[in-house]
Amino acid sequence: MSHGQRTPMPHGLSDLRAGGDVEARPDAFDAGAGRGVPTWLAATLNYCSRCGAALRLGTLPAEDRDRLACDACGYIAYVNPRLVVTTLPVNDAGEVFLLRRGIEPGRGLWAQPGGFMEIDETVHEGAIRETLEETGLVVEPGEVVGLYTRPEAAIVVIAFVARIVGGAPMVTPEALEVRPFAPEAIPWPELAFRSSEWALRDWVRRVRPDLAQDSR
Ligand SMILES: [Zn+2]
Repeated sequence: MSHGQRTPMPHGLSDLRAGGDVEARPDAFDAGAGRGVPTWLAATLNYCSRCGAALRLGTLPAEDRDRLACDACGYIAYVNPRLVVTTLPVNDAGEVFLLRRGIEPGRGLWAQPGGFMEIDETVHEGAIRETLEETGLVVEPGEVVGLYTRPEAAIVVIAFVARIVGGAPMVTPEALEVRPFAPEAIPWPELAFRSSEWALRDWVRRVRPDLAQDSR
């Protein structure tokens, strides 16, 4: 394979190039301006992962939207969202554990534990693993509180309500603080992500419907 002359952004999206990483620029994709691949993600999709030739954005037979494809080998680079597995760990007092994020995106703000699902695990395994890594809590995921799409970040977030069955809250470089919040004490203005707000609102609606009117 020869890389030869690498022309940046051969599929013609260079004017939209955003740079940065996954969630650091959550507003890079303007849903109101039309659908498509978020600009930060398009910026990473220049070459065919099979043969190294340039990818080109265009129409293909039997495809209902423009696709990034390789003219050299015919490979189609489909772009799909990834799944983020999260939990709302609830203690016996009915409080939910959140963590104050130590890293970007959302450094210093509160979120539920979670992360990208690995390719060789189930959603439950991923939710348990991420919760333990980020909070020190061992949980048993229960019902799904909700499933949330964030197209600007190319993710789908699943949130399980979870029972705490072991472990102990633990501070790490990723979590500056780990503490429980009663439903009426959720730090709404200090949440890191829209999906955190959506999941917590759906949880509050379940456990404290009297608090569920728009509390913002
Ligand atoms: Zn190719």
